[in-house]
This record gives sequence, structure tokens and C-alpha cells, in this order.
Amino acid sequence: METNTKILAAEFQYLESENLDQVLNWLAEYGDKAKILAGGTDLVVKMKLGSVHPEYIIYVKKIAALNYINFDDCSLKIGAATTLSQVERNEEIKRSYSALYEAVRSMAAVAVKNMGTIGGNLGNASPAADTAPPLLVYDAVIKAASKEGIREIPITEYFVGPGKSALASSEIITEINIPKTDASTGSSFLKLGRVAADIAKINVAVCLKREGQRCTTCRIAFGSVAPTPIRAWEAERILEGKEINDELIVQAAKAASAEIRPITDNRSTREYRLKVSRVILEEALRAAWQRAGGEL
Ligand SMILES: Cc1cc2nc3c(=O)[nH]c(=O)nc-3n(C[C@H](O)[C@H](O)[C@H](O)COP(=O)(O)OP(=O)(O)OC[C@H]3O[C@@H](n4cnc5c(N)ncnc54)[C@H](O)[C@@H]3O)c2cc1C
Repeated sequence: METNTKILAAEFQYLESENLDQVLNWLAEYGDKAKILAGGTDLVVKMKLGSVHPEYIIYVKKIAALNYINFDDCSLKIGAATTLSQVERNEEIKRSYSALYEAVRSMAAVAVKNMGTIGGNLGNASPAADTAPPLLVYDAVIKAASKEGIREIPITEYFVGPGKSALASSEIITEINIPKTDASTGSSFLKLGRVAADIAKINVAVCLKREGQRCTTCRIAFGSVAPTPIRAWEAERILEGKEINDELIVQAAKAASAEIRPITDNRSTREYRLKVSRVILEEALRAAWQRAGGEL
């Protein structure tokens, strides 16, 4: 049958519950035959195009236990079914987690952000997912639940390939847990797309900690430049523990462009991505450093 983005051609069984335990039972029973549906902004498009054919759809957005933004002494906790709009509108996230705020602000259009969720952005495991680089630089931990219990997946272990994550088919992401930041932390996110609010040609996030003119911790992550979102470990090492200046920033950005492995696809070329990775990283580093209170 011919498919397009207007027709849901294949038949499936729709399941909905406000109870997480019920969802875990369904996931355990139906496994690979089932797909979790949150905002549907990825999944429904794929179903209409016929690239995924779930027999069961499990709608999770009405589960209150998956919808919250909480701050405590140690962390920021975001329920997986929290919409991108809720994340963008949260003043504390805007203030203390600039890279996450800027990433969500750059995404899609308001209508998509009102439907789409942070858990769905991760569930899709796209190499271009905009929430991935900020979550990588904040050392986020993903909580995944199944009938067997809850397991914590460090974000560095979550993405395993294009569209592939470390989640089992019996598991659902319940929470994204992000360690607390303080006044000596600065972060930033930058993205280049073909048009505004587009999937990234390339995106980058930076999170730095400062002590005087020294950078004590540095995290750098890119999207759309490898089969998964990645950290730029070598570039981080160049900056960590050093007195920050423009020359060092240029050196780190050069190292990062040697670490990434971009391809040419319908959004951009390998050569373009290699070139602009340096430019956007330099800019992101300067912004994060200044937000941490550092001078250049
Ligand atoms: C016009 C348009 C523009 C877009 N622009 C962007 C953009 O700029 N940047 C970007 O990153 N994305 C973009 N997207 C993609 C999409 O909107 C986001 O990825 C969104 O966050 C997906 O969330 P969702 O709740 O709609 O996911 P869904 O479509 O409901 O689900 C996506 C996948 O995640 C799984 N899933 C959902 N929730 C969970 C969970 N709690 N646990 C485990 N698996 C789960 C689903 O089974 C499915 O495989 C765009 C999409 C559209 C249609």
C-alpha cells in the first residue's frame, strides 16, 4: 500500500492507561510488537510513512507519574512525558540549565513542542536529537522502568546507534535526572539547521565549571556528526584544569573537529559539518565560559 504523512494505513491496537504498572505489564507482554506513544510527533509520522509497524500502541501521556519538573538539593528531575513546551517555559531551567533551555527553544514549532515530550526525543534516539547534547554535557542519568524494577542509565551509555538506544523493549523511560548546577557553572547550546526550527545539520552543547580563571570541569557534546550524539573527549581534556583564553578555545575547537565523524546526508555535507563544528564550538565555549563568570 502506498503511504504518505496523511494516512495511517496499517491496523494496530490502541492501549491507554493512567497507571504506569499497567503500562509495564503491557510492555512485558507485547515486547517488540508494542510501541510507546507520547506526543506522537515522531512515531505517528513514521507509522504513516510505513517505516514502523507496531501491533500495539501504548499511550503514556496521561500518566501523572511521568509528568513533572522537580528540583531538589542534588538534581533537576524531569518526568519523561513532560512536554518540550513545559521544559522551555520553566524559569529555573532557563536560569540554571541554559543549554537545555536553548536546545528546546531551537526545536520545531510551538505546536510540535506542545505535543512532543523530552522522553520521546530520547526514545527516538536520533543522532540529531536536540536534547541529547545538553543532557550529555550535564551528565544526565536516564531512569528506565520495567516489571523487573528501575535501572539507571548514564546518558553516555544510552545512545548505541542511529535510532537505537540501550532500552529494552520491556522498558520505558520514566525520568531524566540532571545533577544540580551552581553559580560557577555555565552552559550553552548552538545549532545550525536549514531553516529556523529544523532538525539540526549540526548542534553542540558545552558545560563548564570555573574557579577563578581556571576551567575545572569541561563537557562538550555534538549531535548530527556521528551515528549517535557524542562527547568530544579530546577537546574537553585540552580545556580541563587550564586557564581559559581565546587561544586555548581555538585549539580545543580544532581538536573537536578532528574527533567528530560526520557524513554527507540530505541536510548537509561532511565537509560543511567539519568546518562549522569549529566555529560553533568556539562560540559555544565563549558563551558558556562567560556565563560561568569567566573573562576572555
Ligand atoms: C515538524 C517537526 C519538527 C521537528 N523538529 C525537531 C527538532 O528541531 N529537533 C528534534 O530533536 N526533534 C524534532 N522533531 C522530532 C520530535 O518532535 C521530537 O523528537 C519529540 O521530542 C518527540 O517526542 P514525542 O513525545 O512526540 O515522541 P513520540 O513520537 O511519541 O515517540 C518517539 C519515539 O520514542 C518512543 N518513546 C516515547 N516516549 C517514550 C518513553 N517515555 N520511554 C521510552 N520510549 C519512548 C516512542 O515509542 C517512539 O519510538 C520534529 C518533529 C516534527 C514533526
